[in-house]
Amino acid sequence: LQGELNQFRSLPSISADGLRVEIAGNIGKPEDVEMVNNAGGDGIGLFRTEFLYMERQELPNEEEQFTAYRTVLEKMQGKPTIVRTLDIGGDKNLPYFKLPVEMNPFLGYRAIRICLSHQEMFRTQLRALLRASAFGNLKIMFPMIATLDEFRLAKALLLEEKDHLKSEGILVSETIEVGIMIEIPSAAMIADIFAKEVDFFSIGTNDLIQYTLATDRMNENVSYLYQPYHPAILRLIKTVIDAAHQHDKWVGMCGEMAGDEVAIPILLALGLDEFSMTASSILKTRAQIAKYSQKQLLQHIEPILKLSTASEVEEYVKKYLIIHP
Ligand code: PEP
Ligand code: MG
Repeated sequence: LQGELNQFRSLPSISADGLRVEIAGNIGKPEDVEMVNNAGGDGIGLFRTEFLYMERQELPNEEEQFTAYRTVLEKMQGKPTIVRTLDIGGDKNLPYFKLPVEMNPFLGYRAIRICLSHQEMFRTQLRALLRASAFGNLKIMFPMIATLDEFRLAKALLLEEKDHLKSEGILVSETIEVGIMIEIPSAAMIADIFAKEVDFFSIGTNDLIQYTLATDRMNENVSYLYQPYHPAILRLIKTVIDAAHQHDKWVGMCGEMAGDEVAIPILLALGLDEFSMTASSILKTRAQIAKYSQKQLLQHIEPILKLSTASEVEEYVKKYLIIHP
């Protein structure tokens, strides 16, 4: 099978009836870029920057971060590269950065919430990203956005740092797209409002499912409720994609669902533009998408969206839409 998949390494990501999508990789370290490139990934859809901050004794400085971002951008040779700003808190803690003990860490102080209240730390990351932008096709993405105010503030800080750098004569790309992760239901529900101000969305289903079904993604006792195909999740995804397209913005997905065989035909029918996943899933996803006609999939989407439970959705897709050779 691996041999058969190899032919897809240098092929475009395209459906049988000619719809182009992007199949990108998720990475956690600059070294991971190799795996994405070896799999013929069209870009990086999620660079989780937490590694820079973890397993060490102090915050990483601007130079260190600049080097990491620049390395990734250079290795991607102009392909789109989405870097997500720091997403600590929740289940990820830093030894040197004391976070309060919380009753509900996933509902608490994490990600953009920490960054917006520790602006010096955040500005350091933004400056490093802006400086690195001169070396490739950088897109910046903010995690855990719940309100428009958060996005506006984060973007304002980014623009302030950009002005500072430019006034110092430092080269910064003028074409950096700035987007948000959609991983909180409030953001999904007002995607039409966000779509007027962001350049793109990337749906983070790992958290979106947790927050929509009120089921801790780490808690095995409630894992049966962690349902990617729950009709509420499908409706939220559709809401986001439709809102973005109405405003000529594009939508990616960087949660696990983007590389899930059952979800892929649904996402393709809904019009998802970019699928970002672990490098090892890229080729099989490209091969799967190549078998579908999006026009035919569209005939299935209405019946799928009328189904009542996650298991009905799964059965439907497995019965009609999983094509085995
Ligand atoms: C997500 O929530 O889907 C996501 C990609 O982010 P993380 O898994 O890092 O929370
Ligand atoms: Mg997340």
